[in-house]
Amino acid sequence: MNYNTDFFTDSLTGLCAALCEKAGVAPPANAAPASKPLLDELSERYGDFAADRVLIYNPDAVGDWVMDKYADKLQNSLRIAPIRHRFVTVFPPKTPVCFASMYTGAQPETHGILRYEKPVVTIDSIFDAFIRAGKKPCIVSVKNQSMDRIFRGRDMDYFSEKYDDEVVERALELIKEDKYDLLCVYNERYDDAIHVTHPTSRKARHAIDCYETNFTKLIDAVRRDWTGHDTLYGFCPDHGVHRMLIGLGNHGKNIPKDMNISHLFGFIGKSK
Ligand SMILES: [Zn+2]
Repeated sequence: MNYNTDFFTDSLTGLCAALCEKAGVAPPANAAPASKPLLDELSERYGDFAADRVLIYNPDAVGDWVMDKYADKLQNSLRIAPIRHRFVTVFPPKTPVCFASMYTGAQPETHGILRYEKPVVTIDSIFDAFIRAGKKPCIVSVKNQSMDRIFRGRDMDYFSEKYDDEVVERALELIKEDKYDLLCVYNERYDDAIHVTHPTSRKARHAIDCYETNFTKLIDAVRRDWTGHDTLYGFCPDHGVHRMLIGLGNHGKNIPKDMNISHLFGFIGKSK
């Protein structure tokens, strides 16, 4: 894999229907077909499970190359979510564009977010699909960020917190309450760090350490508090990142560093 020339081929739009299929939920109306390679990888590792719970951690801006470069920093995440699936995200690789596609399964021209703006997505989403199936979704995000804004208006719970640590604290409480079937947890520290420094700065490296710690805390909580459930969980960034000639980090170009992402998945079955 050459980070400068090679694009992954499996579209991020195939994630949404794959999550729905594993959760026994009919996918949203505009979702692309489920990613067959991802479903195959899940089956090979865990058998033909059905998940009654799904927890998705969304760490902003961890490109595939970043995950490789900091595999040592992310070693526990890579261990507890051992399926690493490579997706090409949607263009432009901007946060609201990518999350809208991740959770509708649709391309930007269909969900309507084509640049950095945060309108409410009005087409069918995974949240609508779960609600129709009688399940309870929930989004925990940093206040006013994309994940906090673009899926508003559904009959579900939203928690808007001050920053990443508060998001994770809230998510840990919610896991303990044991009532949501789909829990999406958004963190942004790495994306913030790369825009004021660059993708491998000290500040950025610290953000990667925080993502590792936070994902670990969430999955530890699932293991402790969701013993009565079969839980599929993921570490699912929206897009990657590159360093501009002027030195700062950025994302938004049609280049592998921005477009190639890896998602990590794992499964914990209920205690017998
Ligand atoms: Zn982002």
